[in-house]
Amino acid sequence: MNKDIATPLRTKAILEKYGFSFKKSLGQNFLIDTNILNRIVDHAELTEASGAIEIGPGIGALTEQIAKRAKKVVAFEIDQRLLPILKDTLSPYPHVEVIHQDILKADVSTVVNETMDGIEDIMVVANLPYYVTTPIIMKLLEEQLPIRGMVVMLQKEVAERISAKPGTKDYGSLSIAVQYYTKAEVVMIVPRTVFVPQPNVDSAVIRLLRRPEPAVKVKNEEFFFDIVRASFAQRRKTILNNLISGIPDGKEKKSVIEKCLADAEIDPRRRGETLSIEEFGRLSDLLLDSL
Ligand code: SAM
Repeated sequence: MNKDIATPLRTKAILEKYGFSFKKSLGQNFLIDTNILNRIVDHAELTEASGAIEIGPGIGALTEQIAKRAKKVVAFEIDQRLLPILKDTLSPYPHVEVIHQDILKADVSTVVNETMDGIEDIMVVANLPYYVTTPIIMKLLEEQLPIRGMVVMLQKEVAERISAKPGTKDYGSLSIAVQYYTKAEVVMIVPRTVFVPQPNVDSAVIRLLRRPEPAVKVKNEEFFFDIVRASFAQRRKTILNNLISGIPDGKEKKSVIEKCLADAEIDPRRRGETLSIEEFGRLSDLLLDSL
């Protein structure tokens, strides 16, 4: 019986056998700690009936631990050099399917429909490539996939921004974009020492649980996110001044913007970072009707 892929010795042996060299540009930092991997998978609360989607299996360290607990695993890997390695390392797990595709270009919805037929509980579980964490998370959320949520490792700083509460320095348009769809929580802080090669930033695991309905009901989602982004454009400016700069012909529409803020019961001198998602929702609906 082979040792787990993620043990330092087995990882080293696999890398040597295939003469694999890491590509920094693909965010290749592999996990070499089974204990950390198991804790990540614990947070996904998988059952024998669950399906899991992984992004970037690498040499299969996390994939293996997910496979031990799920009915089906589908893993998207961009680096062709890893395919023969994965075929070898994951051979004891026939319910794992590796798809050679850039996750940002993949039609994930169709893949899920084709590979997870009859599976009701689906989670995304991944140690994400750090150069594209935000686009990957936003793509998976915006595509409205039939998933319960995600448990993903990413840069600690991004994890803190995603899960930040109003009134904190980390709170911004990314917090709102993710929390609009999910309940977000940092569940683990992970030291650099559990990766080869070691990344030059700290890492964290975040759990995003999909809300049955978005956090706030708005008349026009695109407009809502435009208003959120405008409100954070310059963090030191008041909400009123950011809206005046961010809304087309904002200067001429100052009195309309002021009236909407008053109707939404938002003090125009507040900063964007103090507004809750509900307040942004109220404000964007009023602006949508008045501008
Ligand atoms: N899951 C492995 C582990 O934990 O040891 C490897 C994680 S490593 C941080 C990120 C992985 O994502 C690498 O295998 C890399 O080749 C892959 N990757 C990078 N960009 C990708 C993309 N756009 N689509 C799919 N996989 C990608």
